Amino acid sequence: MTNKTITVALVGNPNAGKTTLSNALTGAKDSVGNYPRVTVSKRAREIQHKGWTIKLVDLPGIYSLTSQSPEERIGRDFIQDERPDIVLNVLDAGSLDRSLFLTTQLIEMGRPRIYALNMVDEMRKKGYSIDTASLSSMLAGPVIETVATKKQGVTELLDAVVAIADSGQLDDKPLQVPYDGHLEDAIDRVQKTVAELHPGEFESVQSRWMAIKLLEGDDEMLRREGEHGLLIEMVRRERFDLSHTHSDEVEIMFADARYGFIHGLLSEVRTRSLDPERRLSQTRLLDGVLLHRTLGLPLFLFFMWLMFETTFTVGAYPMDWIDAGVGVFSETVAGILPDGMVKDLIVDGIIAGVGGTIIFLPNIVILFFFLAFFSESGYLARSAFLLDRVMHTFGLHGKAFIPLIMGFGCNVPAIMATRTIESEKARLIAILVNPFMCCSARLPVFILFAGAFFAQWAGTIVFMIYMLSIVIALGSAIFLSKYVVRGGDEAFVMELPPYRMPSLSAVLYHMWDKAKDFLKKVAGVILVGSTVLWFMQAFPKEVAWSVDYDTQFAALEAQAESAERDAAIAKLANEQGREHLEKSYLGTVAHTVAPIFAPLGFDWRDTTAILTGLVAKEVVVASYAVIYAQGAEETEESNSLREALAANMNPVVALAFMVFILIYAPCVATIAVIRREAGGWHWVGFSVAFSMSLAWLLAFGITTIGGAIV
Ligand code: GDP
Ligand code: MG
Repeated sequence: MTNKTITVALVGNPNAGKTTLSNALTGAKDSVGNYPRVTVSKRAREIQHKGWTIKLVDLPGIYSLTSQSPEERIGRDFIQDERPDIVLNVLDAGSLDRSLFLTTQLIEMGRPRIYALNMVDEMRKKGYSIDTASLSSMLAGPVIETVATKKQGVTELLDAVVAIADSGQLDDKPLQVPYDGHLEDAIDRVQKTVAELHPGEFESVQSRWMAIKLLEGDDEMLRREGEHGLLIEMVRRERFDLSHTHSDEVEIMFADARYGFIHGLLSEVRTRSLDPERRLSQTRLLDGVLLHRTLGLPLFLFFMWLMFETTFTVGAYPMDWIDAGVGVFSETVAGILPDGMVKDLIVDGIIAGVGGTIIFLPNIVILFFFLAFFSESGYLARSAFLLDRVMHTFGLHGKAFIPLIMGFGCNVPAIMATRTIESEKARLIAILVNPFMCCSARLPVFILFAGAFFAQWAGTIVFMIYMLSIVIALGSAIFLSKYVVRGGDEAFVMELPPYRMPSLSAVLYHMWDKAKDFLKKVAGVILVGSTVLWFMQAFPKEVAWSVDYDTQFAALEAQAESAERDAAIAKLANEQGREHLEKSYLGTVAHTVAPIFAPLGFDWRDTTAILTGLVAKEVVVASYAVIYAQGAEETEESNSLREALAANMNPVVALAFMVFILIYAPCVATIAVIRREAGGWHWVGFSVAFSMSLAWLLAFGITTIGGAIV
């Protein structure tokens, strides 16, 4: 301690938060997690605080102070040989028992200590509280509660360091873990010998520590004292005697005593706080309503309806703004670029496709606001519980449906979440029916179609589509469990977390995360898809025309100028455009496949959309936008896609199309994850075939029955 400099060693278990705390203290940005072992001892940083220069040395994470691992040796050599002025012991408040095991050994090394009771946020979540004042007196050093990730308690820690430095009391704090009588006697004898062999060299704490280490059979200490044959021989005899009288290894005796010390300590200072109990009663009250036998399900349905209604109605405003923005942008670009292929590609391909999809960003964000809110508040787990009740009547268990509900976001992580299901059979079923849960990629299709065909009922229609997705998922689960997947049923315990008011930041983070995902898709697969689609519909340039357009144009142009003549020219140009589109590569491919979908009332454009949706469901809307951008030259109205759709399809077919898109084959990413998680292509084959046929049959049913009624 010179020039008002003080050395502080940071010691604690791995993952106790040392790096985070050290970063918070110094404002540095070391990567949190493990860092390479070699550089460890050099890791010192300086902090200025209240006139002191604090040298902070970040030691590697360790559980104990034996000499078994290099980390442990670095840690203890530093404390033993360099004698830091203060040891800052970082404790993980969430697992204090383990953290304190290291503390019991630090105590014996006898440096002044400060304790950072880190992760108190986690501890409180588990419903515990700590009497820091009495812990502080029992551990002989200030205890400061910290949340390193939020920089809480950081200043208090520095103040505590300075307080010790200012007081000048940098002596060892006498504190001993009390050992068994025989052990204590042995320690005494060995300690005396150590003191005799090293006259005036060590303080009493140090020689006691050395004695303990020697009795524990610590290799490093035995090596250091190797030259004192007498001492080594004495230690060997003491260890032999002890293990004989106690028929236990000496190391175990020490460990037992340390755990006993910790146990006693914690039973005094740690209490389960009353808070969780109160929360429990609130939770019971809420569950009484939300999980009510008869009210529970209707309430769940109401919340879901509210979610989709809001997604549609509130989302409509920003959607219109973005739409208008895209329109202006498109016109501006069209005005700047010279006529020709490049202009067509950019305006009718890329801007139409990307712009046509990006307008759904607000809807996606709103949907995820609700999903995040439900999930963070604890309601999502309840909805699985409600479904569980329904499923029980069919002999299935509802825990398997938590991953299903996650499928509302995206099927890929939801399928990975099925790993939490222990029963093989239930897990396989959850994987296979997951694609039926309507992921958010399909939302734009439904918003577009619902808006085009069912104006003021749009929100409700989207809600019904989603409910249908749950019904189909559950129905298929019953089917699969009866006829396809083998294995026994197992009982589950459903965990119901306490209700919590979701934190704004968590919800916002979630929304931002999803918005980012969506934008990435727009910039990736949708951009590429739109470009490819545009090329496929633009080529080949020359097709086998059914009529001689050139002659007809020439004939019209030869007529005297009149409004009728111009209209006739425009009409003819439109007809030519349509014929070209149908005979382009895109039209040819779609026409080949279209007969399969003809019974459902879908034309070749719908077929194209269905095909592109196999890659990613978001591309469905983009492909409509690209196809319809073709004939849209005359209509400058920005809602043209909706109108064009409405003019080309009747509402019954539109409904059939929505249901088809809901159910038919999973996207490429989902297929890949099904293969991995279900373990084999045969399940992928089954999944695709099953969903395709189901989609076809349902859409056919809707078209047929709906066509008969309307
Ligand atoms: P180290 O191994 O001791 O260096 O621990 P790290 O600093 O790498 O932290 C381990 C993990 O715990 C990281 O994910 C941190 O973000 C997290 N963490 C650290 N301190 C806190 C805290 O006070 N509260 C919570 N909730 N997490 C923390
Ligand atoms: Mg670390």
